[in-house]
Amino acid sequence: MLALHCNYTGYIRVSVRSPTVAVASYRMTVLRAAEAEGVIMRSADAVVVGGGVNGASTAFFLARAGMSRVTLLERRQLGAGATGKSGALVRMHYTNPVESKLAHESLKVFRNWSEIVGGDCGFEATGFVQIVPPQYEEQLRANVDAQRAIGINTRVISAGELHEIEPAVCVDDVTVAAYEPDSGFADPNATLYSLVSAARDRDVTVRTGVEATGIIIEHGRVAGVDTSDGRIDTETVVLATGAWSGRLLDPLELDFGLEPRRVQVVVFRRPPELDHPHPVFIDATQGSWFRPEGVTGTLVGLELGVAGVDPDDLHEGVDQEYVRLCRRALAARIPAFRQATMRGGWAGMITMSPDGRPIIDQVPQVPGLYCMVGDSGTSFKTAPTIGMGLSEWITTGKPRTIDLSPFRSTRFAAGQPWHDVSAYGEDQLTISR
Ligand SMILES: Cc1cc2nc3c(=O)[nH]c(=O)nc-3n(C[C@H](O)[C@H](O)[C@H](O)COP(=O)(O)OP(=O)(O)OC[C@H]3O[C@@H](n4cnc5c(N)ncnc54)[C@H](O)[C@@H]3O)c2cc1C
Repeated sequence: MLALHCNYTGYIRVSVRSPTVAVASYRMTVLRAAEAEGVIMRSADAVVVGGGVNGASTAFFLARAGMSRVTLLERRQLGAGATGKSGALVRMHYTNPVESKLAHESLKVFRNWSEIVGGDCGFEATGFVQIVPPQYEEQLRANVDAQRAIGINTRVISAGELHEIEPAVCVDDVTVAAYEPDSGFADPNATLYSLVSAARDRDVTVRTGVEATGIIIEHGRVAGVDTSDGRIDTETVVLATGAWSGRLLDPLELDFGLEPRRVQVVVFRRPPELDHPHPVFIDATQGSWFRPEGVTGTLVGLELGVAGVDPDDLHEGVDQEYVRLCRRALAARIPAFRQATMRGGWAGMITMSPDGRPIIDQVPQVPGLYCMVGDSGTSFKTAPTIGMGLSEWITTGKPRTIDLSPFRSTRFAAGQPWHDVSAYGEDQLTISR
């Protein structure tokens, strides 16, 4: 007689109430009984690999769409990758309408989180301001027009209006900016945990501490996943594996040109004269972004990333030189921060694709394999729609909420990487925000 208790962390506690259980068959008996009880799956209708926000979102929306046997695998703990370190800006302003739409559809979920997902994602609608150097005024106006056509609540504001919205801000070098009153930021862990909790409530099996070690291909299509805890048979696998994606893609000879990068953020204490939370800013003039953090802090990041870093050997702290650069960029926009106290900081890994846009696809070379990789430091805010789109693709044959074809994996090999006509300088300006 076996009693199984799952603590939902990937471990099963077994109480053996009869001494007649043979030791040799112990493990198999546990596994079979666990599968029979629905506690652990040796087969699944879909296996989602990666316990970050995109894996969790996909698992949640698959279950919400009615798929009954979904397993989510995470090699370490939930939020072990970029998600746990994210700045979690939720803004709609991109330099192309496709990403803006992805973000806009996601904002609808963030703003109605308790009804759609349940729980709390910590979304704060502080408003969002995009500042660009004066020579990009025309591009900014074109982007805002395109965003308004999608239905995004955004407008071009003058330097004077910006000063009214946030009097502490220096507008000497600003001609116009874009303003989104409905945007802001969320809490990345609260977002992730409530997605996972809602997925579990819909019977998704969540296994942490279990690594997918290989995708099994049989007869030219996905047949299962090898894991650190045995094989799982499945015809559908979703990779949302962040900086570790190459380990599963390389053996399949899938080279998407992914490049993991170490990125950092710093928290400063807000000085006493700035006693209110300011809006979220992306300041393309200073190459920075910042948002409120807690009651009296401001979180800052820069357009800087370091390549060639092993994600399993990451220096998780912040470099002193980076602190200096962040303070300088922040004070250039809000002078009150010139002598702000540094409170802390951390580093995380993002993964750049060759054109700085995520790869979201049903990989054509491998039927049954779906992916959300190459997050390019900007795929927190879009995770609800990414998960929704992938789940629609898997359950109905195509994404319905949004056309995901611009994110196809084949665009690089076909010589069609993404290019924004209304960019603010460099094409790849979307690092971690
Ligand atoms: C400092 C920082 C600031 C950021 N700021 C923003 C922002 O303001 N706005 C925004 O939209 N985005 C931002 N981002 C980017 C955003 O956080 C990421 O794009 C997003 O979190 C990616 O989520 P993910 O689920 O795709 O990947 P991840 O969160 O990296 O999750 C991947 C998970 O897969 C697991 N895994 C990998 N391989 C395996 C395997 N073989 N088996 C099992 N599990 C595996 C990993 O352990 C990891 O937990 C920021 C990122 C960083 C680091």
